[in-house]
Amino acid sequence: MSALRENFDAVVVGGGLGGLLVANSLDQRGWRVLLVEEREELGGKCRGQALEWGQAEFGLKVIPDTEEVRGNLLFFDSLLGGRADHCGGIEASPVTYENGNFTPFVGFGSLSPPFVEEISYYLMERRLEFAEPSAWISALKQIFTGVVLPKHRVTNLLMDENRLKGVLINGVKRVFAKEVIYCGSAKNLLSLVPDEFFAAKNRQKVARNRLWASLSLDLWHARPISTSRSIHLLRSTKEAGEVAVGLFKAPTPYDKGDLQTSHWITWIDEESLLDDENSGASLRAVRRQLKRAFPEIFDKILFERILVTKESHGLVDLKLEEGVRWPEIENFWVGSSQVNSQRNLAGVLDQARKVFTSLVGRTKESPCVAPEIHANSSPSMTHPPT
Ligand SMILES: Cc1cc2nc3c(=O)[nH]c(=O)nc-3n(C[C@H](O)[C@H](O)[C@H](O)COP(=O)(O)OP(=O)(O)OC[C@H]3O[C@@H](n4cnc5c(N)ncnc54)[C@H](O)[C@@H]3O)c2cc1C
Repeated sequence: MSALRENFDAVVVGGGLGGLLVANSLDQRGWRVLLVEEREELGGKCRGQALEWGQAEFGLKVIPDTEEVRGNLLFFDSLLGGRADHCGGIEASPVTYENGNFTPFVGFGSLSPPFVEEISYYLMERRLEFAEPSAWISALKQIFTGVVLPKHRVTNLLMDENRLKGVLINGVKRVFAKEVIYCGSAKNLLSLVPDEFFAAKNRQKVARNRLWASLSLDLWHARPISTSRSIHLLRSTKEAGEVAVGLFKAPTPYDKGDLQTSHWITWIDEESLLDDENSGASLRAVRRQLKRAFPEIFDKILFERILVTKESHGLVDLKLEEGVRWPEIENFWVGSSQVNSQRNLAGVLDQARKVFTSLVGRTKESPCVAPEIHANSSPSMTHPPT
Protein backbone atom coordinates (compact mmCIF):
# COMPACT_ATOMS: atom_id res chain seq x y z
CA MET A 1 0.00 0.00 0.00
CA SER A 2 2.97 2.31 0.54
CA ALA A 3 3.30 2.57 -3.24
CA LEU A 4 0.23 4.78 -3.19
CA ARG A 5 2.22 7.54 -1.51
CA GLU A 6 4.14 7.96 -4.78
CA ASN A 7 2.99 10.21 -7.56
CA PHE A 8 2.09 8.09 -10.54
CA ASP A 9 2.52 9.03 -14.16
CA ALA A 10 -0.88 7.53 -14.86
CA VAL A 11 -3.82 6.04 -13.00
CA VAL A 12 -5.87 3.65 -15.10
CA VAL A 13 -9.41 3.18 -13.78
CA GLY A 14 -10.87 -0.26 -14.61
CA GLY A 15 -9.01 -3.51 -15.15
CA GLY A 16 -10.98 -4.99 -18.05
CA LEU A 17 -9.20 -5.75 -21.32
CA GLY A 18 -9.20 -2.04 -22.24
CA GLY A 19 -7.66 -0.93 -18.94
CA LEU A 20 -5.05 -3.68 -19.06
CA LEU A 21 -4.06 -2.76 -22.62
CA VAL A 22 -3.68 0.92 -21.77
CA ALA A 23 -1.85 0.17 -18.51
CA ASN A 24 0.59 -2.22 -20.20
CA SER A 25 1.27 0.07 -23.16
CA LEU A 26 2.25 2.90 -20.78
CA ASP A 27 4.13 0.53 -18.47
CA GLN A 28 6.20 -0.62 -21.44
CA ARG A 29 7.04 3.03 -22.15
CA GLY A 30 8.53 3.28 -18.68
CA TRP A 31 5.62 5.14 -17.04
CA ARG A 32 4.77 4.49 -13.38
CA VAL A 33 1.22 3.19 -13.65
CA LEU A 34 -1.45 2.39 -11.06
CA LEU A 35 -4.31 0.16 -12.22
CA VAL A 36 -7.45 0.33 -10.03
CA GLU A 37 -10.15 -2.32 -10.35
CA GLU A 38 -13.25 -2.54 -8.21
CA ARG A 39 -13.64 -6.31 -8.51
CA GLU A 40 -11.43 -8.91 -6.93
CA GLU A 41 -10.22 -10.16 -10.33
CA LEU A 42 -9.05 -8.31 -13.40
CA GLY A 43 -10.60 -9.00 -16.79
CA GLY A 44 -14.04 -7.32 -16.71
CA LYS A 45 -16.19 -8.91 -19.41
CA CYS A 46 -13.24 -11.01 -20.57
CA ARG A 47 -13.00 -12.94 -17.32
CA GLY A 48 -13.02 -16.68 -17.80
CA GLN A 49 -14.42 -19.45 -15.64
CA ALA A 50 -12.69 -22.78 -15.07
CA LEU A 51 -15.04 -25.72 -15.67
CA GLU A 52 -14.53 -29.47 -15.63
CA TRP A 53 -14.52 -29.37 -19.46
CA GLY A 54 -12.01 -26.57 -19.82
CA GLN A 55 -12.00 -22.81 -19.68
CA ALA A 56 -15.36 -21.13 -20.28
CA GLU A 57 -15.35 -17.69 -21.86
CA PHE A 58 -18.03 -15.00 -21.91
CA GLY A 59 -20.05 -15.07 -25.12
CA LEU A 60 -19.11 -15.66 -28.74
CA LYS A 61 -15.68 -14.06 -28.79
CA VAL A 62 -15.70 -13.17 -32.43
CA ILE A 63 -14.50 -9.91 -33.97
CA PRO A 64 -15.13 -8.63 -37.48
CA ASP A 65 -12.12 -9.45 -39.64
CA THR A 66 -11.31 -5.99 -40.98
CA GLU A 67 -8.10 -4.17 -41.80
CA GLU A 68 -8.61 -1.86 -38.82
CA VAL A 69 -9.02 -4.77 -36.43
CA ARG A 70 -5.96 -6.55 -37.82
CA GLY A 71 -3.94 -3.34 -37.47
CA ASN A 72 -5.04 -3.01 -33.85
CA LEU A 73 -4.26 -6.66 -33.18
CA LEU A 74 -0.67 -5.90 -34.13
CA PHE A 75 -0.61 -3.26 -31.41
CA PHE A 76 -1.93 -5.86 -28.99
CA ASP A 77 0.49 -8.48 -30.27
CA SER A 78 3.40 -6.08 -29.80
CA LEU A 79 2.46 -5.65 -26.14
CA LEU A 80 2.36 -9.39 -25.61
CA GLY A 81 5.54 -10.03 -27.59
CA GLY A 82 3.63 -11.78 -30.40
CA ARG A 83 1.53 -14.04 -28.23
CA ALA A 84 -2.05 -12.82 -28.88
CA ASP A 85 -3.86 -15.95 -29.93
CA HIS A 86 -6.66 -16.26 -32.48
CA CYS A 87 -7.64 -18.91 -34.93
CA GLY A 88 -7.34 -16.84 -38.08
CA GLY A 89 -10.03 -15.52 -40.39
CA ILE A 90 -13.24 -17.45 -40.92
CA GLU A 91 -15.39 -16.68 -43.94
CA ALA A 92 -18.98 -17.85 -43.55
CA SER A 93 -22.16 -15.93 -44.32
CA PRO A 94 -24.56 -15.56 -41.40
CA VAL A 95 -27.59 -17.81 -41.71
CA THR A 96 -31.14 -17.63 -40.43
CA TYR A 97 -33.73 -20.36 -39.90
CA GLU A 98 -36.82 -19.96 -42.06
CA ASN A 99 -39.48 -22.39 -43.28
CA GLY A 100 -37.59 -25.39 -41.93
CA ASN A 101 -34.23 -24.50 -43.52
CA PHE A 102 -31.14 -22.42 -42.88
CA THR A 103 -30.76 -19.72 -45.51
CA PRO A 104 -28.34 -16.79 -45.85
CA PHE A 105 -29.44 -13.88 -43.70
CA VAL A 106 -30.31 -10.86 -45.85
CA GLY A 107 -31.85 -8.39 -43.41
CA PHE A 108 -34.50 -7.88 -40.78
CA GLY A 109 -37.13 -6.27 -43.03
CA SER A 110 -40.02 -4.86 -41.02
CA LEU A 111 -39.19 -7.03 -37.97
CA SER A 112 -36.12 -5.12 -36.90
CA PRO A 113 -35.25 -5.75 -33.24
CA PRO A 114 -34.81 -2.71 -30.95
CA PHE A 115 -31.16 -3.78 -30.43
CA VAL A 116 -30.48 -4.03 -34.16
CA GLU A 117 -27.13 -2.20 -33.89
CA GLU A 118 -25.88 -4.55 -31.20
CA ILE A 119 -26.85 -7.67 -33.10
CA SER A 120 -25.53 -6.35 -36.43
CA TYR A 121 -21.98 -6.37 -35.04
CA TYR A 122 -22.18 -10.17 -34.98
CA LEU A 123 -23.67 -10.63 -38.46
CA MET A 124 -20.31 -10.51 -40.20
CA GLU A 125 -19.16 -12.24 -43.37
CA ARG A 126 -15.57 -12.53 -42.21
CA ARG A 127 -14.62 -12.91 -38.59
CA LEU A 128 -11.72 -13.65 -36.33
CA GLU A 129 -12.53 -16.16 -33.65
CA PHE A 130 -10.71 -16.26 -30.35
CA ALA A 131 -10.24 -19.36 -28.25
CA GLU A 132 -9.54 -17.84 -24.86
CA PRO A 133 -9.63 -14.07 -24.39
CA SER A 134 -9.23 -14.78 -20.66
CA ALA A 135 -5.72 -16.03 -21.54
CA TRP A 136 -5.01 -12.51 -22.87
CA ILE A 137 -5.97 -11.19 -19.45
CA SER A 138 -3.61 -13.63 -17.70
CA ALA A 139 -0.79 -12.76 -20.08
CA LEU A 140 -1.33 -8.98 -19.71
CA LYS A 141 -1.47 -9.37 -15.93
CA GLN A 142 1.75 -11.34 -15.95
CA ILE A 143 3.77 -8.79 -17.88
CA PHE A 144 2.46 -5.67 -16.07
CA THR A 145 5.14 -4.21 -13.78
CA GLY A 146 3.06 -1.35 -12.34
CA VAL A 147 0.89 -1.38 -9.21
CA VAL A 148 -2.48 -3.17 -9.31
CA LEU A 149 -5.16 -2.29 -6.78
CA PRO A 150 -8.02 -4.80 -6.95
CA LYS A 151 -11.19 -4.45 -4.85
CA HIS A 152 -10.88 -0.67 -4.95
CA ARG A 153 -13.25 1.73 -6.63
CA VAL A 154 -12.40 5.17 -7.92
CA THR A 155 -15.16 7.29 -6.43
CA ASN A 156 -14.12 10.86 -7.31
CA LEU A 157 -11.83 12.84 -9.52
CA LEU A 158 -9.51 15.26 -7.69
CA MET A 159 -9.64 18.52 -9.61
CA ASP A 160 -7.16 21.36 -9.68
CA GLU A 161 -8.78 24.01 -11.89
CA ASN A 162 -9.15 22.34 -15.29
CA ARG A 163 -6.65 19.56 -14.58
CA LEU A 164 -6.80 16.44 -12.50
CA LYS A 165 -4.45 16.03 -9.56
CA GLY A 166 -5.47 12.42 -9.22
CA VAL A 167 -8.36 10.33 -7.96
CA LEU A 168 -10.11 9.44 -4.73
CA ILE A 169 -10.38 5.74 -4.04
CA ASN A 170 -13.19 4.21 -1.93
CA GLY A 171 -14.11 7.73 -0.85
CA VAL A 172 -11.02 8.13 1.34
CA LYS A 173 -7.71 7.32 -0.33
CA ARG A 174 -6.12 10.07 -2.41
CA VAL A 175 -3.79 9.08 -5.23
CA PHE A 176 -1.92 11.61 -7.32
CA ALA A 177 -1.13 11.21 -11.00
CA LYS A 178 -0.18 13.24 -14.07
CA GLU A 179 -2.74 11.53 -16.30
CA VAL A 180 -5.97 9.69 -15.52
CA ILE A 181 -7.42 7.17 -17.96
CA TYR A 182 -10.95 5.92 -17.34
CA CYS A 183 -11.74 2.47 -18.77
CA GLY A 184 -15.03 1.57 -17.07
CA SER A 185 -18.63 1.90 -18.21
CA ALA A 186 -19.16 5.25 -19.94
CA LYS A 187 -22.41 5.97 -18.09
CA ASN A 188 -20.63 5.94 -14.71
CA LEU A 189 -18.94 9.15 -15.81
CA LEU A 190 -22.24 10.88 -15.04
CA SER A 191 -21.50 10.45 -11.36
CA LEU A 192 -17.70 10.68 -11.58
CA VAL A 193 -17.22 13.91 -13.54
CA PRO A 194 -18.21 17.10 -11.64
CA ASP A 195 -21.08 19.07 -13.21
CA GLU A 196 -18.95 22.09 -14.11
CA PHE A 197 -16.70 19.89 -16.30
CA PHE A 198 -19.52 18.06 -18.08
CA ALA A 199 -21.35 20.27 -20.60
CA ALA A 200 -25.04 20.24 -19.62
CA LYS A 201 -26.20 19.26 -23.12
CA ASN A 202 -23.80 16.32 -23.26
CA ARG A 203 -24.70 15.23 -19.77
CA GLN A 204 -28.38 15.07 -20.69
CA LYS A 205 -27.64 13.19 -23.90
CA VAL A 206 -25.46 10.65 -22.14
CA ALA A 207 -28.09 10.19 -19.41
CA ARG A 208 -30.65 9.38 -22.11
CA ASN A 209 -28.28 7.11 -24.03
CA ARG A 210 -29.50 3.54 -24.20
CA LEU A 211 -27.19 0.75 -23.16
CA TRP A 212 -28.17 -2.90 -23.40
CA ALA A 213 -27.79 -5.77 -21.01
CA SER A 214 -26.89 -9.07 -22.63
CA LEU A 215 -28.47 -12.37 -21.75
CA SER A 216 -26.26 -15.20 -22.83
CA LEU A 217 -26.88 -18.91 -22.87
CA ASP A 218 -23.83 -21.15 -23.16
CA LEU A 219 -24.39 -24.85 -23.75
CA TRP A 220 -21.99 -27.78 -23.38
CA HIS A 221 -23.30 -30.60 -25.57
CA ALA A 222 -22.28 -34.20 -24.85
CA ARG A 223 -22.37 -34.83 -28.60
CA PRO A 224 -21.86 -32.57 -31.61
CA ILE A 225 -24.99 -30.81 -32.84
CA SER A 226 -23.81 -28.95 -35.92
CA THR A 227 -20.73 -28.66 -38.12
CA SER A 228 -21.76 -25.23 -39.39
CA ARG A 229 -19.20 -22.43 -38.91
CA SER A 230 -21.76 -19.72 -39.64
CA ILE A 231 -23.14 -17.20 -37.22
CA HIS A 232 -26.77 -18.22 -36.68
CA LEU A 233 -29.58 -15.73 -36.34
CA LEU A 234 -32.66 -17.26 -34.77
CA ARG A 235 -35.87 -15.27 -34.64
CA SER A 236 -39.59 -15.41 -34.38
CA THR A 237 -41.62 -14.49 -37.43
CA LYS A 238 -44.00 -12.48 -35.24
CA GLU A 239 -42.07 -10.77 -32.43
CA ALA A 240 -39.30 -8.35 -33.45
CA GLY A 241 -37.53 -8.63 -30.09
CA GLU A 242 -37.53 -12.43 -30.06
CA VAL A 243 -34.17 -12.89 -31.68
CA ALA A 244 -30.83 -14.38 -30.72
CA VAL A 245 -27.46 -14.72 -32.35
CA GLY A 246 -24.99 -17.52 -31.75
CA LEU A 247 -22.64 -20.13 -33.06
CA PHE A 248 -21.25 -23.60 -32.57
CA LYS A 249 -17.59 -24.04 -31.72
CA ALA A 250 -15.64 -26.88 -33.32
CA PRO A 251 -16.09 -30.14 -31.36
CA THR A 252 -13.28 -31.21 -29.05
CA PRO A 253 -12.53 -34.77 -27.81
CA TYR A 254 -14.11 -35.62 -24.45
CA ASP A 255 -14.18 -39.05 -22.80
CA LYS A 256 -15.12 -41.45 -25.62
CA GLY A 257 -16.93 -38.95 -27.78
CA ASP A 258 -16.78 -35.35 -28.87
CA LEU A 259 -17.95 -32.39 -26.87
CA GLN A 260 -19.27 -29.27 -28.53
CA THR A 261 -20.16 -25.91 -27.07
CA SER A 262 -22.61 -23.43 -28.49
CA HIS A 263 -23.09 -19.81 -27.43
CA TRP A 264 -26.19 -17.64 -27.82
CA ILE A 265 -26.93 -14.02 -26.97
CA THR A 266 -29.92 -11.77 -26.90
CA TRP A 267 -30.36 -8.29 -25.43
CA ILE A 268 -32.73 -6.51 -23.12
CA ASP A 269 -32.83 -2.84 -22.21
CA GLU A 270 -31.50 -1.88 -18.81
CA GLU A 271 -34.92 -0.81 -17.47
CA SER A 272 -36.61 -4.09 -18.41
CA LEU A 273 -33.81 -5.90 -16.64
CA LEU A 274 -35.09 -4.57 -13.32
CA ASP A 275 -37.95 -7.06 -13.52
CA ASP A 276 -36.68 -10.68 -13.44
CA GLU A 277 -39.75 -11.81 -15.34
CA ASN A 278 -38.53 -9.92 -18.43
CA SER A 279 -35.15 -11.63 -18.58
CA GLY A 280 -36.84 -14.98 -17.90
CA ALA A 281 -39.19 -14.38 -20.85
CA SER A 282 -36.28 -13.41 -23.14
CA LEU A 283 -34.35 -16.53 -22.24
CA ARG A 284 -37.40 -18.72 -22.78
CA ALA A 285 -37.74 -17.14 -26.22
CA VAL A 286 -34.10 -17.99 -27.04
CA ARG A 287 -34.70 -21.61 -26.00
CA ARG A 288 -37.86 -21.74 -28.10
CA GLN A 289 -36.01 -20.53 -31.19
CA LEU A 290 -33.11 -22.93 -30.58
CA LYS A 291 -35.45 -25.89 -30.21
CA ARG A 292 -37.28 -24.92 -33.39
CA ALA A 293 -34.06 -24.82 -35.42
CA PHE A 294 -32.26 -27.74 -33.72
CA PRO A 295 -34.92 -30.06 -32.23
CA GLU A 296 -32.30 -32.18 -30.40
CA ILE A 297 -30.21 -29.37 -29.04
CA PHE A 298 -31.29 -29.79 -25.39
CA ASP A 299 -31.23 -33.61 -25.40
CA LYS A 300 -27.71 -34.22 -24.13
CA ILE A 301 -26.52 -31.21 -22.23
CA LEU A 302 -23.57 -31.64 -19.89
CA PHE A 303 -23.80 -28.14 -18.53
CA GLU A 304 -25.45 -24.86 -19.28
CA ARG A 305 -24.66 -21.38 -18.11
CA ILE A 306 -26.81 -18.27 -18.16
CA LEU A 307 -25.07 -14.93 -17.81
CA VAL A 308 -26.78 -11.61 -17.43
CA THR A 309 -24.39 -8.74 -18.01
CA LYS A 310 -25.50 -5.19 -17.32
CA GLU A 311 -24.40 -2.40 -19.68
CA SER A 312 -22.66 -4.94 -21.84
CA HIS A 313 -23.41 -3.42 -25.25
CA GLY A 314 -24.12 0.02 -26.67
CA LEU A 315 -22.40 3.16 -27.82
CA VAL A 316 -22.07 6.43 -25.88
CA ASP A 317 -21.04 9.65 -27.59
CA LEU A 318 -19.07 11.68 -25.04
CA LYS A 319 -17.87 14.23 -27.61
CA LEU A 320 -14.26 13.53 -26.71
CA GLU A 321 -11.39 15.37 -28.35
CA GLU A 322 -9.71 13.16 -30.94
CA GLY A 323 -12.10 10.49 -29.67
CA VAL A 324 -10.11 10.05 -26.46
CA ARG A 325 -9.66 13.18 -24.33
CA TRP A 326 -12.25 14.84 -22.07
CA PRO A 327 -12.64 18.33 -23.59
CA GLU A 328 -13.01 20.22 -20.30
CA ILE A 329 -10.25 18.40 -18.40
CA GLU A 330 -6.73 18.59 -19.77
CA ASN A 331 -5.35 15.29 -18.52
CA PHE A 332 -8.43 13.04 -18.45
CA TRP A 333 -8.77 10.26 -21.06
CA VAL A 334 -11.45 7.70 -21.80
CA GLY A 335 -10.35 4.22 -22.83
CA SER A 336 -13.78 2.63 -22.56
CA SER A 337 -14.86 0.47 -25.50
CA GLN A 338 -18.36 1.97 -25.24
CA VAL A 339 -17.15 5.26 -26.72
CA ASN A 340 -15.58 3.68 -29.79
CA SER A 341 -17.70 3.26 -32.93
CA GLN A 342 -16.05 -0.07 -33.76
CA ARG A 343 -17.80 -1.42 -30.64
CA ASN A 344 -17.11 -4.38 -28.38
CA LEU A 345 -13.72 -6.12 -28.58
CA ALA A 346 -12.93 -4.33 -31.85
CA GLY A 347 -13.69 -1.07 -29.98
CA VAL A 348 -11.55 -2.08 -26.99
CA LEU A 349 -8.48 -2.62 -29.18
CA ASP A 350 -9.03 0.56 -31.16
CA GLN A 351 -9.72 2.76 -28.16
CA ALA A 352 -6.72 1.46 -26.19
CA ARG A 353 -4.42 2.08 -29.13
CA LYS A 354 -5.82 5.57 -29.70
CA VAL A 355 -5.44 6.52 -26.04
CA PHE A 356 -1.86 5.23 -26.02
CA THR A 357 -0.94 7.05 -29.25
CA SER A 358 -2.51 10.28 -28.05
CA LEU A 359 -0.88 10.15 -24.61
CA VAL A 360 2.64 9.42 -25.83
CA GLY A 361 2.20 11.88 -28.67
CA ARG A 362 1.61 14.61 -26.09
CA THR A 363 4.40 13.58 -23.74
CA LYS A 364 7.34 12.89 -26.03
CA GLU A 365 9.85 13.00 -23.17
CA SER A 366 9.01 9.41 -22.23
CA PRO A 367 12.26 7.42 -21.99
CA CYS A 368 11.39 4.03 -23.44
CA VAL A 369 10.53 2.76 -26.88
CA ALA A 370 6.87 2.46 -27.94
CA PRO A 371 5.58 -0.94 -29.00
CA GLU A 372 6.31 -1.19 -32.72
CA ILE A 373 3.43 -1.55 -35.12
CA HIS A 374 3.97 -2.68 -38.72
CA ALA A 375 0.78 -2.02 -40.62
CA ASN A 376 1.40 -4.63 -43.31
CA SER A 377 2.39 -7.64 -41.29
CA SER A 378 -0.04 -10.22 -39.94
CA PRO A 379 -0.74 -10.83 -36.25
CA SER A 380 0.90 -13.94 -34.89
CA MET A 381 -1.14 -17.09 -34.37
CA THR A 382 0.76 -18.63 -31.50
CA HIS A 383 -0.66 -19.17 -28.03
CA PRO A 384 -0.04 -17.12 -24.88
CA PRO A 385 1.24 -18.90 -21.79
CA THR A 386 -1.48 -20.55 -19.71
C1 LIG B 1 -21.95 -12.20 -22.88
C2 LIG B 1 -21.04 -11.31 -23.67
C3 LIG B 1 -20.60 -11.72 -24.92
C4 LIG B 1 -19.76 -10.92 -25.66
N1 LIG B 1 -19.33 -11.36 -26.88
C5 LIG B 1 -18.52 -10.58 -27.60
C6 LIG B 1 -18.03 -11.02 -28.88
O1 LIG B 1 -18.28 -12.13 -29.33
N2 LIG B 1 -17.26 -10.18 -29.59
C7 LIG B 1 -16.94 -8.95 -29.12
O2 LIG B 1 -16.25 -8.22 -29.84
N3 LIG B 1 -17.35 -8.50 -27.92
C8 LIG B 1 -18.14 -9.28 -27.16
N4 LIG B 1 -18.59 -8.84 -25.95
C9 LIG B 1 -18.23 -7.49 -25.53
C10 LIG B 1 -16.83 -7.43 -24.95
O3 LIG B 1 -16.63 -8.51 -24.05
C11 LIG B 1 -16.66 -6.10 -24.25
O4 LIG B 1 -16.90 -5.07 -25.17
C12 LIG B 1 -15.26 -5.90 -23.69
O5 LIG B 1 -14.83 -7.01 -22.95
C13 LIG B 1 -15.27 -4.62 -22.85
O6 LIG B 1 -14.00 -4.44 -22.30
P1 LIG B 1 -13.66 -3.13 -21.48
O7 LIG B 1 -12.30 -3.31 -20.91
O8 LIG B 1 -13.93 -1.93 -22.29
O9 LIG B 1 -14.76 -3.07 -20.32
P2 LIG B 1 -15.05 -4.08 -19.11
O10 LIG B 1 -14.70 -5.46 -19.46
O11 LIG B 1 -16.46 -3.78 -18.69
O12 LIG B 1 -14.05 -3.59 -17.97
C14 LIG B 1 -14.29 -2.43 -17.21
C15 LIG B 1 -13.72 -2.66 -15.82
O13 LIG B 1 -13.72 -1.44 -15.10
C16 LIG B 1 -14.07 -1.69 -13.76
N5 LIG B 1 -14.54 -0.41 -13.21
C17 LIG B 1 -15.56 0.35 -13.67
N6 LIG B 1 -15.67 1.48 -12.95
C18 LIG B 1 -14.69 1.44 -12.02
C19 LIG B 1 -14.29 2.33 -10.98
N7 LIG B 1 -14.92 3.49 -10.76
N8 LIG B 1 -13.23 1.98 -10.19
C20 LIG B 1 -12.57 0.80 -10.41
N9 LIG B 1 -12.91 -0.07 -11.38
C21 LIG B 1 -13.96 0.24 -12.18
C22 LIG B 1 -15.13 -2.79 -13.86
O14 LIG B 1 -15.24 -3.52 -12.66
C23 LIG B 1 -14.56 -3.63 -15.00
O15 LIG B 1 -13.74 -4.70 -14.56
C24 LIG B 1 -19.38 -9.65 -25.17
C25 LIG B 1 -19.82 -9.23 -23.90
C26 LIG B 1 -20.62 -10.06 -23.15
C27 LIG B 1 -21.08 -9.61 -21.80
